[in-house]
Amino acid sequence: MLGWDINSLNQTNQSGNRRISSSLRQRAWIEISASAIRRNVKALRHILAPQTQLMAVVKADAYGHGAVSVAEIALEAGAKGLAVATLQEGIQLREAGINAPILVLGACHTPGEFEAIAHWQLQPTLCNPQQASLCAETVTALGQSLSVHLNLDTGMSRLGTPWHQAVEFVQQVKNSRSLQIASIYSHFATADDRDRTIVDLQHHRFQDAIAQLQAHNIPIPRLHIANSAATIMDSAFHYDWVRVGLALYGLYPAPHLQSLLPLQPAMQVKARITQVKVIPPGTGISYGYKYMSDREMQIAVVGIGYADGIPRNLSNQLQVLLRGQIIQQIGAITMDQLMLDVSHLPHVQPGEVVTLIGQDGAISISADHWADSLGTISWEILCGFKHRLPRIMSD
Ligand SMILES: *Cc1c(COP(=O)(O)O)cnc(C)c1O
Repeated sequence: MLGWDINSLNQTNQSGNRRISSSLRQRAWIEISASAIRRNVKALRHILAPQTQLMAVVKADAYGHGAVSVAEIALEAGAKGLAVATLQEGIQLREAGINAPILVLGACHTPGEFEAIAHWQLQPTLCNPQQASLCAETVTALGQSLSVHLNLDTGMSRLGTPWHQAVEFVQQVKNSRSLQIASIYSHFATADDRDRTIVDLQHHRFQDAIAQLQAHNIPIPRLHIANSAATIMDSAFHYDWVRVGLALYGLYPAPHLQSLLPLQPAMQVKARITQVKVIPPGTGISYGYKYMSDREMQIAVVGIGYADGIPRNLSNQLQVLLRGQIIQQIGAITMDQLMLDVSHLPHVQPGEVVTLIGQDGAISISADHWADSLGTISWEILCGFKHRLPRIMSD
């Protein structure tokens, strides 16, 4: 039976949690597969040498998948550390009781931020000598000590000290007794490119910085430089840690990396049909009449829209899955709803579930499809889904 009766969805399962999650599936929701994340972690660990540890990058609410649940699943499956972008994201994980090392990738630059970092036992990125002194002063004043990560800019031109100034930077941090250097790291700008020229140049600069430190008899701490693409591409980039985001969620940074590792997308986006109607030829559909029917049509209204993260720029282009078939979306996507052309399907009913991203029968639609249509990248699609969509974890 299709419809709104929440108990009919889970008749065999009487647990309170399940009933709550069924009621969250009324309008639109995101399903996260825990087993897909587990499998992706294992596939990644499989290509790492035993001494290389996996750091699960769970910034931006784990790319929209839910930071706390993903962190727990990834750690259980063998990740040894976590990375977030902001202090707040780190605190959220600590408040949920997660004890693993947490690297904050973004920069902190006020004493208050470093106090919070120390209080929550997070590990900051230090990007230059000024940040390092502020961090050292703050932590010393608290009578504490802190593990820190030093970021070298080898060519991303984002955060970090230029690689050729590594020696002065590292020496300064080493002199502050309240700080321990947990790692030195860098970040690639073009790792998803087929052409390796810039990646190799950045890697060469990283190696050069390490050689300079060695020449000054500075003990080498842990090192890391690889994001998902670099991790999949070449084990020469693995070092002590790899910082993996996208691949954890089952997407490939670029098509040419697909053959190197089996990954499974963890996210599905689903919504229900809320009304079905037949319209005569010559009827305008949705705001601005960006679609006019040229025949009698059966259309279905679906309870999901751009306020949920469905890009309005996909209006008239979006394709969704219903009953294992590809269905065309028509007219402008509105804030909370969108319309489908279901003329060729018999007896479409309110309550039927439409898959916007995910698998239905033999067909699947991935965030890569949307990214290609929009001229963007899958990373942006994944973290574009709003919190109005409940995240439901399935096994
Ligand atoms: C986001 C981020 C990563 C993860 O990148 P993916 O391509 O998603 O694996 C790694 N390192 C840094 C510094 C980042 O900002």
